[in-house]
Amino acid sequence: MRTVLISGASIAGPALALWLHRYGFAPTVVEKAPALRTGGYKVDLRGDAIEICARMGILDEVRAASTDMDGGSYVDARGRTVGELPAEIFGGREEQDDEIMRGDLARILHDKTREDVEYVFGDSVASLHDDGEGVDVVFESGTRRRFDLVVGADGMHSHTRRLVFGDERRFRQHLGAYISIFTGPDRLGLTRWETYHARPNKLVSVYSTSGESAGTAKNCFVFASPAELAYDHRDGTAQKRLLAEAFAGDDWEIPRLIADAADADDFYFDQIATIRMDRWSSGRVVLLGDAAHCTSPASGQGTGLALTGAYVLAGELAAAGGDHVAAFAAYEAAMRPGVELNQRFAEKMAKEMTVASRRKIALRMFLVRTLPKMPWKNVIARKIREEIQRAAHAVPVKEYAKYETLRAV
Ligand SMILES: Cc1cc2nc3c(=O)[nH]c(=O)nc-3n(C[C@H](O)[C@H](O)[C@H](O)COP(=O)(O)OP(=O)(O)OC[C@H]3O[C@@H](n4cnc5c(N)ncnc54)[C@H](O)[C@@H]3O)c2cc1C
Repeated sequence: MRTVLISGASIAGPALALWLHRYGFAPTVVEKAPALRTGGYKVDLRGDAIEICARMGILDEVRAASTDMDGGSYVDARGRTVGELPAEIFGGREEQDDEIMRGDLARILHDKTREDVEYVFGDSVASLHDDGEGVDVVFESGTRRRFDLVVGADGMHSHTRRLVFGDERRFRQHLGAYISIFTGPDRLGLTRWETYHARPNKLVSVYSTSGESAGTAKNCFVFASPAELAYDHRDGTAQKRLLAEAFAGDDWEIPRLIADAADADDFYFDQIATIRMDRWSSGRVVLLGDAAHCTSPASGQGTGLALTGAYVLAGELAAAGGDHVAAFAAYEAAMRPGVELNQRFAEKMAKEMTVASRRKIALRMFLVRTLPKMPWKNVIARKIREEIQRAAHAVPVKEYAKYETLRAV
């Protein structure tokens, strides 16, 4: 049986482990966090990703954890509603599509695989040596093990990528903004509703989904920054300080919402960026999900592509009878055109997340206010949906042979 070490237990890692186990491989997932990480934004599952959730047998759990949002409203600096939009217009969703909290999806995937897959929390790969026949891995804990293959599913700041391909800066394209999200007290009294407040070069949103614990809400901040900020992405205190500096002096509820970051144990802060690489594998090591090709939160597709990539990578490994050279090439050929389409989409969307001037904000608010009353609102909603759906169906979901027949790998 072929052994596969997967670094990262968020979305891509556990999804790959699920498929590899079904195909008869022996996956081990190592996660540097001491336990499964909760937190994160609500993430869209559309098109291919929904089909793959069904094939993984987790669609019922996904549906049960749906955010079930009704819609959202924009408010001005005095908290007065400027306009409201229903959730369909925001999400660009087709009938079967859904939205779920990232942490809920990570939990569903972990629950589905924990009995069959070896998970090691609180450890990380310190070094690896690929001798052509296998990969010798030394872990931070000092443990030494040998695997047939190693998969880096450890996110945009992938440690595996750094070890095998070099410095992240060679592959990272900053899309001009930063994002932060964390849980705080529900200061606006929201139920399945999102409230937005736009300021020049900034956007604040607060929302509460159907699964949100009583009395809490998610505070989300986006701010434009043409230049990359210098900070350590492992240093939460420094990130909270950067966030506070970016929103210093702003009114509405912003000072209180920012202050809530101090007590948040699920604080998330990152730049909005893509990762572009010429190739995703080297020898017996391959990258998956954001580690290979982060499309950024601006695309709304990172989680979907992580699930699709896991399905394709495992399927190609099984179809090639474990021949990793053939499988990695087929995986990359299947994924790359769709990934590139999504990265172009992300570049466009990142520019639209914030608005530069008060005049442009006023124009956007005018559109939000008038759109629901316009006779051609359905035409606009359809145009938005079509573009999003193109991105959501960008990778053909092949039928891999039924896994029962492949267990002999
Ligand atoms: C806590 C958290 C919150 C997030 N919030 C948002 C959000 O609000 N909006 C958004 O669009 N995207 C968010 N993301 C990113 C989003 O989950 C991904 O874009 C997408 O789901 C692709 O998933 P992935 O599994 O490829 O990577 P990720 O979800 O980034 O997961 C990578 C995993 O690898 C682990 N890891 C990192 N380094 C190591 C290491 N050295 N050894 C072992 N494990 C390691 C991380 O702890 C994490 O569990 C978040 C990710 C995390 C981890």
